[in-house]
Amino acid sequence: MSTAMQNYIDEAEQALLHTYNRYQVVFEKGDGVYLYDLDGKKYLDFVSGIAVFALGYNNKEYNDALKAQIDKIIHTSNYYYNLPAIEAAKKLKEISGMDRVFFTNSGAEAIEGAIKTARKYAYLKDGRTDHEIIAMNHSFHGRTMGALSVTGNPHYREAFEPMIGNIRFADLNDFDSVMAQVTDKTCAILFETVQGEGGIYPATEAFMQKVRKLCDERDILMILDEIQCGMGRTGEMFAWQRYGIRPDVMTSAKALGCGVPVGAFMMTEKVGAHSLAAGDHGTTYGGNPLACAAVCKVIELFEKHQVLDNVRETGAYLSGKLDELVQEFPCIETRRGAGMLQGLVFDRPVGDIIVKAMDKGLVLINAGTNIIRFVPSLVITKENVDEMTAVLRACISEVCV
Ligand SMILES: *Cc1c(COP(=O)(O)O)cnc(C)c1O
Repeated sequence: MSTAMQNYIDEAEQALLHTYNRYQVVFEKGDGVYLYDLDGKKYLDFVSGIAVFALGYNNKEYNDALKAQIDKIIHTSNYYYNLPAIEAAKKLKEISGMDRVFFTNSGAEAIEGAIKTARKYAYLKDGRTDHEIIAMNHSFHGRTMGALSVTGNPHYREAFEPMIGNIRFADLNDFDSVMAQVTDKTCAILFETVQGEGGIYPATEAFMQKVRKLCDERDILMILDEIQCGMGRTGEMFAWQRYGIRPDVMTSAKALGCGVPVGAFMMTEKVGAHSLAAGDHGTTYGGNPLACAAVCKVIELFEKHQVLDNVRETGAYLSGKLDELVQEFPCIETRRGAGMLQGLVFDRPVGDIIVKAMDKGLVLINAGTNIIRFVPSLVITKENVDEMTAVLRACISEVCV
């Protein structure tokens, strides 16, 4: 590493709050599926800002749309209408089959909104203020207090107790464990369609159907967190769309704006009409013209460039290549995932492998201690997959002997 880059890193550690153990690199620019650090070193990126830059870096059509919007107006207020927000909401309704959209600035805020929606919906029915939400062990929903309260990882929560009350935890894909937590106060069941941070666990078809049926029977809201697994990553626009069900409320963020901070929570007409009303919820930035111009362009480019087709085809190719690694290396236990949300599960911590990969110009990320997570841009090619697996194979060989 150059002294210049080392100096910047030292400065960062003097100024930024140390809430991340960062990799020792300063990225300066990106192009397509490649990143470049300050020293000009090129990296193949299979992280894409953690499932954010779905269309790749420095996408000209996307950049031009943002520049054009900057020259018109960046922000007004939610007390007024703006064209990008209207257009973005219409497009989101189309691709999700949801009926009502609220734009936020982040994934965690989308979860906060979904929680408030569920509580208000139940409150309007019976006037009680002690409703419960069932969330899943090993889930991840964000770092704000509400989102943390439904995050099924005690390690993230402990120092910040007390959480918001009346959250119960069950196990994803274990319907009996959900039933065991249901009471007459349950207002929502919340989970990721594919658990991301928790280890790339997709919900099973049976679990999905049973939860849907239970929610219908008891008028409980089914809330699906699609912040990581949504926006095309599994080969459907939203991961739940392959189960033939529809949630009552869902959240989106990460790839929704492809880099501009934006999230959304969405709901059916029925929930929209019987939950949050004027004065119940708000945000200064959420849904501002710049963020919504990004959302509009992202959805437009997904269609124009048939991104879903590439996820299905190249995602299957990626799965196949990862399966070959599972066969080859005894230290890899299994592969899990769907489309371009994949995890390789090792019998040991993967930190060393990731650092070695960085040295060799490949950017990877973990999910938990023992899992390498693959969340590349959705426009990667088979050649990119081959390039990635060649470097990864070399790194694993050095570690798993
Ligand atoms: C990243 C993530 C969040 C939190 O989103 P932020 O934008 O970081 O607040 C919530 N849920 C899931 C599934 C995520 O992957």
